[in-house]
Amino acid sequence: MFGTLSDRLSGILSGLTRRGSLTEEDVNAALREVRRALLEADVALEVVRSFTDKVRERAVGAEVLKSITPGQQVIKIVNDVLIETLGGEGESINFDAVPPVPVLMVGLQGSGKTTSTAKIAKRLTERHKKKVLMASLDTRRPAAMEQLAILGQQVGVQTLPIVAGQSAVQIARRAVEAARLGGYDVVMLDTAGRVTLDDTLMAEVAEVKAATNPHEVLLVADALTGQDAVNTARAFDARVGLTGIVLTRMDGDSRGGAALSMRAVTGKPIKLVGIGEKVDELDEFHPSRVANRILGMGDIVSLVEKAAQTIDATQAQATAQRMAKGQFDLSDMRAQLQQMEKMGGIGGVMGMLPGMKQAQSQLANAGVGDTMFKRMIAAIDSMTPAERKNPDLLKNSRKKRIAAGSGTSAEQINKLLKMHRGMADAMKMMSKQKGGMLGKLGSMFGL
Ligand code: GDP
Repeated sequence: MFGTLSDRLSGILSGLTRRGSLTEEDVNAALREVRRALLEADVALEVVRSFTDKVRERAVGAEVLKSITPGQQVIKIVNDVLIETLGGEGESINFDAVPPVPVLMVGLQGSGKTTSTAKIAKRLTERHKKKVLMASLDTRRPAAMEQLAILGQQVGVQTLPIVAGQSAVQIARRAVEAARLGGYDVVMLDTAGRVTLDDTLMAEVAEVKAATNPHEVLLVADALTGQDAVNTARAFDARVGLTGIVLTRMDGDSRGGAALSMRAVTGKPIKLVGIGEKVDELDEFHPSRVANRILGMGDIVSLVEKAAQTIDATQAQATAQRMAKGQFDLSDMRAQLQQMEKMGGIGGVMGMLPGMKQAQSQLANAGVGDTMFKRMIAAIDSMTPAERKNPDLLKNSRKKRIAAGSGTSAEQINKLLKMHRGMADAMKMMSKQKGGMLGKLGSMFGL
C-alpha cells in the first residue's frame, strides 16, 4: 500500500532534514519534486496543485525557514496538508437511525462490491454486535446472488431468500420489510454493477434509493483504477448522491492516486478500505494513520508536535539570551534537563536541535540514559545557588555533600559536571559562529 509514493516522498523530505538551514528556493525545489511524485502517483492535477500551494504558503509564510529545525517543520506541514487532503478526522459508517438501517452498496462490476458488502456485514456482526441482513439486487446475474449467499454463509450473516422474477426495487422493498419483521439492525443492499457507467444502471440505483431511503449510500471503487475510481465516484454522486466511499484493492495499490484525490475531488469521505480478498481484510480509513504510512515520518511529526506543546517559550527565551552571552550555568542546564525529560528524553529534544548533536553524543558516551535526568536534576537541586552559578567551587567535600543530599554518587556528580562543561563549550563555540545555531535560536524566540 502506497509503497512507491511513500519511497519517493520520504526520499525528498528526508533530504530537507539533512540540512541545517533552508532557503525558500530549497523548499520550492523540494515541492517541485513532491509535485512530480504526486502526479506520477496518479493524483488528480487539481489536488496536486492545491496540495503544493498550501505547503508552500505555510512553509514560506510562517517563521518556519528561520526556525532551528526548518526541515522537520516542513515535514510537519506536509504531513498536516496530507491529512487535510485525505479528509481530516476520518469518518466511519453511521448507523445512527431507527433500525433496520438500510445501507446501499453501489459501484461498477468487479470493483469488489459484493465482497465488501460481506466484509462490512461481518464486521458489524462481530464488532458492533448488529443483526445484519444482506440482499443482492442483481437481477441480471444469478451468479451474483449466489455469490452473496455463499459469502453470507461464510461470514455467518443472513441473506434474503432469492425469489426469481422480482425487480431490483421489489427485492429491496422485500429486504427492508423482512429486516423490519425479523428485528434486524441493518439491511445491506448490494445493487447490480455494470462494466461501465450507463443510464440504465444509474436509473435503477436511483429507483432503489428512492424506494428504501438508505442511511448510507456507499460507493465501492477499485483503487487500482486510479482517477477512473474518482470519476466513477463523481458520476454516482451527481446522479444518486453518496455518503461515503469504500476503496478496494488498496493492498495492491502502491501509487495511491485514488486514495489521495477522492476526498478532495468528490468531497466524500473514504470510510473503509479493502486490503485483500479475505472477508476480514477491511480497514477503517484514518487520514492521520494513512499520512503516517505514506510519509513514514511519524517520529518527526510527533516530535515537532510535542515540542510545540512542551517548550516553555518564556523560559527558552531567557535561556537563549543567556546562552547568547556565553553564560550557561548549572541552573540553565537544569532547565534544559527538565525540558528534555518532558520531551521524552535525550532522543527527544536533542535529536531535534541540529546544534545539540555534539552534546547528545557526549551524553551517550557518558552512559547517560534518560532515567538519569531525574537524578541529575535532583543533584543540581542539592547545590547552593553559588555552586550552580560557579561549578568550579565544587571540590570533593562539596561533591560528597551533594551526592548524599540527592541520592547520587560522587562519580555521577563528576559526570554531570563533565556534561555541563561539554554543553557550555558547545554553546560558546556556537555563539561565536555568526548566524549559527544561537542566532537561529534567537530568531525562533523572537529576539
Ligand atoms: P463485484 O463485481 O463488484 O461485486 O466484485 P466482487 O466482490 O465479486 O470482487 C471481485 C474480485 O475482487 C474478487 O476476486 C474479490 O476477491 C476481489 N477483491 C475484492 N476486494 C478486494 C480487495 O480489497 N483486495 C483484493 N486484493 N481483492 C479484492
